[in-house]
Amino acid sequence: MNVSIEVNSRVIQARKGETILSALNRNGIRVPTLCYMSELSPTGACRLCVVEVEGRDNLVTSCSHLVEEGMQIKTHSPRVVRARKTLVELLLSNHPDDCLYCERNGHCELQNLAAELHIRERKVLRKSFSQKLDLSSPSIVRDPAKCILCGRCVRVCDEIQSVSTFEFVKRGCNMYVGTTMSRDLNFSNCIGCGACVMVCPTGALYERQNVAEVMDTLSNPELVPIVQVAPSISVSIAAEFGLKPGKDINGMLYAALRKIGFKYIFDSASAADIATTEMAEELLKRKENGTQLPVLSSCCPAWVKFVEQWYPELIPQLSAVKSPQQVMGSLIKNYFAPANELNPSKVYSVSVMPCLAKKFEAQREEMTTRGLSDVDSVISTRELVRLIKLYGVDLQNIESQHADKPFHIRSSAGKLFGISGGTAQALARLIFFKLTGKDLVESKITEVKLGQGVKAFSFKCAEKTFTFAVINGLQNIHNIIPELINSKTPIDYIEVMACPGGCVSGGGQPYEPDKKMVKLRAKAILEIDEADGIKCAARNPIVQAVYQEFVGEPGGELAGKLLKTRYSKRDVLL
Ligand code: SF4
Ligand code: SF4
Repeated sequence: MNVSIEVNSRVIQARKGETILSALNRNGIRVPTLCYMSELSPTGACRLCVVEVEGRDNLVTSCSHLVEEGMQIKTHSPRVVRARKTLVELLLSNHPDDCLYCERNGHCELQNLAAELHIRERKVLRKSFSQKLDLSSPSIVRDPAKCILCGRCVRVCDEIQSVSTFEFVKRGCNMYVGTTMSRDLNFSNCIGCGACVMVCPTGALYERQNVAEVMDTLSNPELVPIVQVAPSISVSIAAEFGLKPGKDINGMLYAALRKIGFKYIFDSASAADIATTEMAEELLKRKENGTQLPVLSSCCPAWVKFVEQWYPELIPQLSAVKSPQQVMGSLIKNYFAPANELNPSKVYSVSVMPCLAKKFEAQREEMTTRGLSDVDSVISTRELVRLIKLYGVDLQNIESQHADKPFHIRSSAGKLFGISGGTAQALARLIFFKLTGKDLVESKITEVKLGQGVKAFSFKCAEKTFTFAVINGLQNIHNIIPELINSKTPIDYIEVMACPGGCVSGGGQPYEPDKKMVKLRAKAILEIDEADGIKCAARNPIVQAVYQEFVGEPGGELAGKLLKTRYSKRDVLL
């Protein structure tokens, strides 16, 4: 049911029970806020969304007040703008004045708001906060001096990821955001998903930068720089270069990376096909033996760390197959390098990922072979954008190129790894093909109801029924996972991605508060799949060649050494 409200002397329709802010936004009226997030309960902490309501003495926070029939609202009256300006001046009163050197320069909501309100001098001066910069994590840097106590990180980590790394400590003007027992991030329970980085409005949280070391490598004649690009990257950066948001610019991206100086460029989706081949073998074996089921996906390193910390009893169920990033890294140094007379220790393997937890994954000691890391450096999508701009590559005027042999062909199932449900779909297609010699078509898939927050489907082949579940976002996982594992439904495989929507909304993707952008990226990947001629890993000739020339049998001895890993219990303060 609708209610009529008057906003700035214009009547608009609002939905009964919605907040003033929601009604304003739906009607194209923008009110600033630094703490609000549409998917979480409002706190009114920053108070910047205040509006004037006829008949009320005080300004009201539009994020936490519901609309009422006949309400008369002013969103930008002189009184409202003055109040917002004072609030921002107070936030700036102890904020460091180093915008030029800040990681978020140009992407800072506080900076934008100060410009919008035309704040051109420091009116109030308070003692700045002295907590030290936290550089302990391989994924995330925390600069508490830039924290404005909006609480977004506290809520996203608790309510969306159910990790609860951050909390408000102390009260009043002594309040700050800290970790449990004030431990550095690397020693806290943080899983490195980067969700907090995506919502932080200032430079208080940002990714650990690896661009400088990659640039050093590019100019070092002793080293051979090789780069792999994750499936979701090609549909995530067009808007950063003035191109249509969500446009697939795969070929242009390869050309840009070549101009920058990478010697070889590989498609991680090709390695996703190899990882799927190993996972299919693993799942079929476990199903035959009736042990370690359901297989839990291990492609998302944030989810793997989550299991190691909270559910070590589930570690045997995690797939032992390395993630596509690590599979590609291992094949580059152990297969491609020797085959091309390159010394593996002189190969510098870089990966471009939409994820900050991948920086942590690449550093794990389990991800090394004969003392060499599979992957030497991981840069996020945002860092890739910086790198392309830094090297002066004009992406709008570049001819598309192909990736390099041997990892230049992928199936569209490999590309699907970039979205939630993609890994499960790729695995289902391959298992069906292995057991029947035919492609798994839509009509053979049946949706299964397993409970809130879980998508599931089943398919039959070779007189067996396979049931796969898909979970994205770790919200409520503490309830879902034990229930799924103990339920009577025989689930064979559970795909879990820490980021809601999967890698297209990863913590390393361009800062984009608009969820529409994430949907455009996912749509682009689905369209690629729709149009592609190779839809299953089994039909990728590269997979066949890698096994024939090097790995041998899927699940064999060499695959065990190079394409699989192990995980172990992790003690942290929870
Ligand atoms: S660290 Fe960022 S997101 Fe967290 S409270 Fe501070 S400003 Fe807000
Ligand atoms: S990276 Fe993820 S787990 Fe770590 S503090 Fe941020 S939201 Fe929480």
